[in-house]
Amino acid sequence: METATETEQNPLRDLDDLDAIRIPVEPAEEKEHVFRDYAAEARSTVREFYRLNHTYQTLEFARARRQEFLPGKHGEMGIWEAMEYLNTLVDDSDPDTDLSQIEHLLQTSEAIRAKGLPRWFILTGLIHDLGKILCLFGEPQWAVVGDTFPVGCAYSDKIVYSEFFEANPDIRVEEYQTTCGIYAEGCGLDSIVMSWGHDEYLYHVVKPFLPEAGLYMIRYHSFYPAHTGKAYNWLMNDHDREMFEWVRAFNPFDLYSKNKVKPDIAALKPYYEELIAEFFPAKIAW
Ligand code: FE
Ligand code: FE
Repeated sequence: METATETEQNPLRDLDDLDAIRIPVEPAEEKEHVFRDYAAEARSTVREFYRLNHTYQTLEFARARRQEFLPGKHGEMGIWEAMEYLNTLVDDSDPDTDLSQIEHLLQTSEAIRAKGLPRWFILTGLIHDLGKILCLFGEPQWAVVGDTFPVGCAYSDKIVYSEFFEANPDIRVEEYQTTCGIYAEGCGLDSIVMSWGHDEYLYHVVKPFLPEAGLYMIRYHSFYPAHTGKAYNWLMNDHDREMFEWVRAFNPFDLYSKNKVKPDIAALKPYYEELIAEFFPAKIAW
């Protein structure tokens, strides 16, 4: 049997290539030959990414990973330290057009700050992707990024590339393929096992420190089938529905704050160090 190569395990050049299928291409840009080639290439790597994700994200896998990555197994780090650590993720893509992880975090938080939103909201923007350090702990991309979805119940057709679930062993487990699967209708999202990734991991890491609305934003920001596709309403309780207004309010800051003006990291650091200290101890368990 062949072993998977690095590219087979990690088809994306850059974790942010996933957004290539989400942000509509401006008609003017579409005419540019170079851009179109890049978009086509990004699309095929995104497809391959979701093929792996949908094949391997089973209920058993998600449960096991959640257990394995309980906070504390990877030592202690401060928030800013974790941001710098995440920034060491190798990015082969064009440095002129792509943002580093730390720049994406700062652009998100700065966009929230510019709207005069509460300090915990700004902080949530700053940290929302820190769970991607899972990649540095050796997790393949398909177990870190991409849209998330509940496991242990039928897959919604609102999940991107849902045809790839054909290869997931759970599709042949009858109990998992009814609408509610192993869950009770209206049981609430906290009782659901979500596909494993950076959202769920970071939620467990920062749970003791942030207000609930911020925790919802972190835990469900990649749950596009629900916050954008409006699927899985049957799993939610009224409290989830109320909290999802926050998840939806957060989404544009994550998706559309990306621009070419790079934030001045050194100039912003003192403001953010103070904000971090307001909510977090000097070091937390990862
Ligand atoms: Fe994210
Ligand atoms: Fe993000």
